[in-house]
Amino acid sequence: MASVLLESIFLKRSQQKKKTSPLNFKKRLFLLTESKLSYYEYDFERGRRGSKKGSVDIEKITCVETVVPEHNPPPERQVLRKGDDCNNMEQISIIERFPYPFQVVYDEGPLYVFSPTEELRRRWIHQLKSVIRYNSDLVQKYHPCFWIDGQYLCCSQTAKNAMGCQILESRNGSLKVGRSHRKTKKPLPPTPEEDQMKPLPPEPAPSTAGEMKKVVALYNYLPMNAQDLQLQKGEEYLILEESHLPWWKARDKNGREGYIPSNYVTETSNSLEIFEWYSKNITRSQAEQLLKQEGKEGGFIVRDSTSKTGKYTVSVYAKSSVDPQGMIRHYVVCCTPQNQYYLAEKHVFNTIPELITYHQHNSAGLISRLKYPVSQHQRSAPSTAGLGYGSWEIDPKDLTFLKELGTGQFGVVKYGKWRGQYNVAIKMIREGSMSEDEFIDEAKVMMNLSHEKLVQLYGVCTKQHPIFIITEYMANGCLLNFLRETRRRFQPAELLEMCKDVCEAMEYLESKQFLHRDLAARNCLVNEQGIVKVSDFGLSRYVLDDEYTSSMGSKFPVRWSPPEVLLYSKFSSKSDVWAFGVLMWEVYSLGKMPYERFNNSETTEHVIQGLRLYRPQQASERVYTIMYSCWHEKPEERPTFSALLGSILDITDEEP
Ligand code: ADP
Repeated sequence: MASVLLESIFLKRSQQKKKTSPLNFKKRLFLLTESKLSYYEYDFERGRRGSKKGSVDIEKITCVETVVPEHNPPPERQVLRKGDDCNNMEQISIIERFPYPFQVVYDEGPLYVFSPTEELRRRWIHQLKSVIRYNSDLVQKYHPCFWIDGQYLCCSQTAKNAMGCQILESRNGSLKVGRSHRKTKKPLPPTPEEDQMKPLPPEPAPSTAGEMKKVVALYNYLPMNAQDLQLQKGEEYLILEESHLPWWKARDKNGREGYIPSNYVTETSNSLEIFEWYSKNITRSQAEQLLKQEGKEGGFIVRDSTSKTGKYTVSVYAKSSVDPQGMIRHYVVCCTPQNQYYLAEKHVFNTIPELITYHQHNSAGLISRLKYPVSQHQRSAPSTAGLGYGSWEIDPKDLTFLKELGTGQFGVVKYGKWRGQYNVAIKMIREGSMSEDEFIDEAKVMMNLSHEKLVQLYGVCTKQHPIFIITEYMANGCLLNFLRETRRRFQPAELLEMCKDVCEAMEYLESKQFLHRDLAARNCLVNEQGIVKVSDFGLSRYVLDDEYTSSMGSKFPVRWSPPEVLLYSKFSSKSDVWAFGVLMWEVYSLGKMPYERFNNSETTEHVIQGLRLYRPQQASERVYTIMYSCWHEKPEERPTFSALLGSILDITDEEP
């Protein structure tokens, strides 16, 4: 027989496998081996094990955790008085109280076990976690409270095997699991053939597998250097080292390890992001645009509801005999108090994917059944923070120059390819235009700034002159010119979308306490899909040109500066907020020059006196209120970017 790891008398709650069987609590002798958790009757008179009452296969266990104690337990499950403590087999017959519950969750639901002491419970949980550590179905969420009277007390879900409602916390408080933390599992002795072949032993699974983060790849990723790990869309990976940096160390199912771009993966397989129909945070108007472009009966998109946080909206397209453009309906997914989802009240589901699958086959009141998932253009793989993990110095031999894009503060900017494959923009820094050493020192920090609405810094070439700054390529060039092109007619919703893109990037920089210092439409770029991204963040600090750096200089961004910058050169995230208000004004006036009738010193005077930019024709009162709030004389009275984003989102769903 397999060796017994632990043996204790516990109180076991009946599992009520049949609905009619009563809830009862029985003392049982529990035995734990590597393969089974078994419980037996116990003859207290003779101190002997009786007949076996049941067992759970270790490999079927998905979670072992404590349970929040019952609210008003009977005396036998109330906490022991001092001095009554007992976890010793000899004293078992006198144990009367079992106040410390824990749960062993397996495919039939939770098994509730009550321990007489906290220490014994801790020991069992620890040992159980250790024997289940290689199980493939370990969960990341659990129910902290009991299942009682047909529902979980924590979340009111009524299905016994409903997915947990609370994320398991890692015991050491950190998800960082280095090599040294791992225990090795003793491998089976090799067969003679294996012995001869001397295969590399498979990487041991970490002892803390249950606590480690599992992710799913949203995109394919091909390694750019030897330290990277290839990602295959839809595959699962284990995160070995997670940090707030954009590269995480991961392991694939074959045991290969390496670094992956963290923005290419999503946390669990339960995440909606792996579904083609889920477009996360696109707005109502973007969804409408996409559905119309596609023009397919039953085209649909699932997105986060912008007006109701934590809710989802299903947008559906159907052809119409009246409107040649077709019609679109937006359905908010309703949620019952038991956390079940529905669009049509009669059809309720535990998960969103189940709900979608149902409505793919049944319209059940919708204008059409959900026939074609319409995916968002942004689904093309995002930029990585650098061309491979840790690669910030780029070999210029890997660059091919294809065309000139323009000339800026630091010189010529070219479009090119990295290793013949990846689009890049190359800023060739004119000598004497930048304090290069200071910039190079900071570049590593700036590379770790990574957000889908920031023009990504990929790296630098510093071993030659002129030095190059390599960034993400933005096919539609600078926002200011994009706005000014008279051929384009922008809808108000598109203009708001541009402001939202910039605000998202700025909210990110604000959260990193990183100042832009030169936010303006000329420093934003537009990519092939029309997404606006913020560029040149923090670069103004390295400009070597007094006309640009001094607030009296002819190139100083006076028109984007608040009074405290003009008067005392006092920069803060609130001076970035002021500039953002001016940028909104530029967007809504389609690229006009702010304070166009004034020169720089008249503008300064104008602003210090308290005069502000007028409302552009295309801006509604609500939009103007937002930009105007950025121009409060007192910096502390201006909103944060996070508040601004909230205000912008509030109107995205309301204005057509
Ligand atoms: P600087 O910041 O050095 O003054 P800019 O960044 O404004 O220079 O670049 C000058 C011009 O080059 C821009 O107006 C834009 O048209 C083009 N450009 C710059 N960076 C990119 C990029 N990443 N992708 C596409 N075009 C770019």
